[in-house]
Parts: sequence; C-alpha cells; structure tokens
Amino acid sequence: MLNVTLFTYNAFDENTYLVSNEHNQCWVIDPGMSNPAENKHFTDYLSEKQLKPQAIINTHAHIDHILGVQYLMDKYNIPFGMHEAETPVLKMGTSSAAMFGMHFPKTPQPTFYIKEGEPLKLGEDTLTVFHTPGHSPGSISYYYPGGNWVVAGDVLFSGSIGRTDLPGGNFDTLITAIRTKLFTLPSNTIVLSGHGEATTIAEEKMHNPFLK
Ligand SMILES: [Zn+2]
Repeated sequence: MLNVTLFTYNAFDENTYLVSNEHNQCWVIDPGMSNPAENKHFTDYLSEKQLKPQAIINTHAHIDHILGVQYLMDKYNIPFGMHEAETPVLKMGTSSAAMFGMHFPKTPQPTFYIKEGEPLKLGEDTLTVFHTPGHSPGSISYYYPGGNWVVAGDVLFSGSIGRTDLPGGNFDTLITAIRTKLFTLPSNTIVLSGHGEATTIAEEKMHNPFLK
C-alpha cells in the first residue's frame, strides 16, 4: 500500500509529494525545496520516519518543480527520472531561475526516462504512468488505483488547468490529455496537483470552467 504526503515549498507554493510504502521505501515527486531551511524540513521528516528514498520521479521539469532535485540526488545518491520529451524544458532551468532571481547553480541530469505504459514499481506496489502533455511536452501523471489518487502535476487544478503559454505548451493538447487520460479514471479519484488544494475527477468534470 502506498501512502502520499504533501509538502509545499518555494516562492511558487509548489507541491512536493512523498510516496512511501510499509517497508519505509519512498519516492519523491517534484522536489521543490529551494533553500537550506526547506532542505532540512524535508530531510528531517525522512529521518524521523526512517524513510529511504529510492528515486525522484518528476511530473515535469518547470523550475519550481526541480529546485530540490540535485540536492536530493547528492544527499541520498538516488536516480532522477522524467519523461524524455521534457528535455528542452529541463534545459531552460538555469535561465528560468535567473529570471526569477532564484539560486540554481546546476541543472540536474535525468538518470532514467519514464514512459507511459511502463509501470513504476516500489516494492509490491505499482504506479501507472500517463503521458499528459499540453502544460509542457513531457508532463506525466502518476495514478495509484489502490489509493484512488493521481498525482497530476500542473495538468489539472481544482477549478483550473495548467497554463499553456510557456514554451512547448499547447491548449488543445492539454484539454485532450485531460479528457482522454484523466477524465477516464474513476470519478472518485483524488487529484493531487502541483499547486493548491486536492480535488476529484468528479468535481472537475462538473465544475471546471475549462472543461465544460
Ligand atoms: Zn509547471
């Protein structure tokens, strides 16, 4: 059984998710910690719970979702995975950071690629991967049927959708991805987004103004 814990970091109030199992193994999705205090906040939690990180798996590579990647790779000697189509977005990390006046000395390099249709295994549990582009070309969502949740990154928010005006974004692609990949999940699925509050598929089908 996988559990998911939310942390919110950096100037963008980015949601970092920690996914763990009963063997104290864990994955970190979108580590956004951006300074020594946030680094310590996160690693103190892992130490306290005796959690052993196995990998970083990102939904996408916008700067607010990758600020803590290199720190965790170095600290725990763990691999970093993302979708291959996200490569150009990752490469813009340093210039995006400079634009926002953020400290970001080095762009982390992925050590493996994550693909739709290739399940991710943590112990006996499996996350299903959906390619959900549109906010960025390599955006992916992680679905865990056993817990009825999907980590959707910046694809779908409570009452909103991801912005599509950044390089590689496309509005029609995003709407199609949401309709074909997320809205086909059970309606009681909890949507864990990259920013803001959790929602459900049913709630967004009924009330999301972008998806009427
Ligand atoms: Zn984003």
